Amino acid sequence: MKSRYVFPRHTKADLPIAVGGDGCYLIDAEGKRYLDACGGAAVSCLGHSDPDVVAAIQKQVGEMAYAHTAFFTSGPTEALAEKLVSLAPEGIERIYFVSGGSEAMEAAIKLARQYFLEIGEPERKHVIARWQSYHGNTIGALSAGGNRWRREQFSPFMVEAMHHVSPCRAWRDKHEGESDEAYGDRLAAELEVKILELGPETVAAFLAEPVVGATMGAVPPVAGYFKKIKNMCDRYGILLVLDEVMCGMGRTGTLFACEQDDVVPDMIAIAKGLGAGYQPIGALMVSGKIYDAIEAGTGFFQHGHTYLGHSVATAGALAVLDKISSPGMLANVRKMGALLMDRLQHTFGQHPNVGDIRGRGLFIGMEFVADCASKSAFAPEKKLAAKLKAAGMVNGLMCYPMSGTVDGEHGDHLLLAPPFIIDETHVEEIVSKLEKSLATALAQ
Ligand code: PMP
Repeated sequence: MKSRYVFPRHTKADLPIAVGGDGCYLIDAEGKRYLDACGGAAVSCLGHSDPDVVAAIQKQVGEMAYAHTAFFTSGPTEALAEKLVSLAPEGIERIYFVSGGSEAMEAAIKLARQYFLEIGEPERKHVIARWQSYHGNTIGALSAGGNRWRREQFSPFMVEAMHHVSPCRAWRDKHEGESDEAYGDRLAAELEVKILELGPETVAAFLAEPVVGATMGAVPPVAGYFKKIKNMCDRYGILLVLDEVMCGMGRTGTLFACEQDDVVPDMIAIAKGLGAGYQPIGALMVSGKIYDAIEAGTGFFQHGHTYLGHSVATAGALAVLDKISSPGMLANVRKMGALLMDRLQHTFGQHPNVGDIRGRGLFIGMEFVADCASKSAFAPEKKLAAKLKAAGMVNGLMCYPMSGTVDGEHGDHLLLAPPFIIDETHVEEIVSKLEKSLATALAQ
C-alpha cells in the first residue's frame, strides 16, 4: 500500500502492512510470512510473540503506566537497574534509562562533559570518535558518528568539539603482511596523535562501537585493539564510552560485546535488544567513579527527558533481560552464530561479489564488491544493497541493507542479526533465501 505515514523511511516504497508476529517471523496483511533475519535493525532478539514479555508489559500498564522520575521511581525500573548492574562488567554501577540509542549516546556525551566540570577539569571539551561509525541521529550523536552520508546535509550543525580517527576495519585497512598486533598498534598510535594535536588535557571522551553495526554490516575489531585503546585513554585521563546500542544485550554471544575484548569502559550505551522491540527503551550504564563525582558535586545530571525510566518500558525490558540471561540463551546465540557463519562461508565464500563475511555471535555482516581482487565497490547507482533487501522481501526474508555513501566510501553491505531463538532450520532458510535474493539483485 502507498503509505501516508508522515516521513516514512522510503517515501516512494509500497510497504506491506505488518499485522502479526510468530516467533522469528513477521506476518503481513496478506498472510505472507517474513523470516526476520535482521531483527529489524538488530532489535527483535526474542522474536515477535514472546508471551512472557507481553504479559509483563500488560501487567505494568494495567497497574501503573507512568510516573515522572522527578517525583517517583518504580519497582520495574529499580529491578531492571539492579539486574543490569549485577550482570555488567565490574565498575559499572548506575543506570540512566532513556527511550532509545540516540538518547543514550547524547546522555553519554553530556555526562562526560559534566563529569570533568565536576572534578575541576573544565578544559576537557573535545570528544574523539571514529569514521564509519554510527551513534544516532540527534545532533550530538550524529556529530560524534562518522558516517559521511548521514552527516552531509546537516554539516552546518555538526558540533565542532567532535573529532574522528580511523575505524578498526581489518579487511579493508590492514596492510599486506601486517599482523593484528601491529595494526592495533597503528590505530592506537593514530589516536595518540589526535589526542596530542588537540591537547591531552582538553579531551573528555573516546567513543566507539565494539562491533561496528549500522554503517558497514557487522565489523568486529582485531584482537587486542580495545585494550590498546583503553590504555591510551587511561594514559591521558580520557573516558572510554562504548556504544553497544546495536551489538550489546547478548547479540555477540556475551551479554556485553566488550566482555570479549576484555576491557571495562567508563560508560556503556545500550538500547535495541534491551526492549527487544516490545518497548522503546535505551540505557546509559555508568561507572561508580562518574556517578560519585556528580553526586559529590552538583548532585544531579544536568539533562533529562519526559520518559526517563518509563515503567512499562522497564517492565518489558526486565522480562526481556530475564530471558536473555537465562541458561542456554546466549549459548544458542554462540552456537547458531557459528553455524550461520559456517553456512554463509560455505555458500558465499567463493562468490565473486562477496568480499568479506565477518561478525560475532548472531551479528554478521557481508560486504559486496564488484571485484574481489581489487575490493572495489559497486557503483552507488547500482543500489545493490537496496535491491537485495527488496528481493529478500519478495522471498519472505528480512535482511538489513547498507548502501554506498555519497562518496562511495563504504559500498554495499548487509547485516544479519536474527532473533536469539533461531534453530538450524531457520539458518538454512536464511542462507537459501539469501542466495536466491542475491542472484536476483545482481542480475538487475
Ligand atoms: N548507536 C548505534 C551503534 C546504533 O546502531 C544506533 C541505531 N542504529 C544508535 C546508536 C541510535 O539508536 P536509536 O535509533 O534507537 O536512536
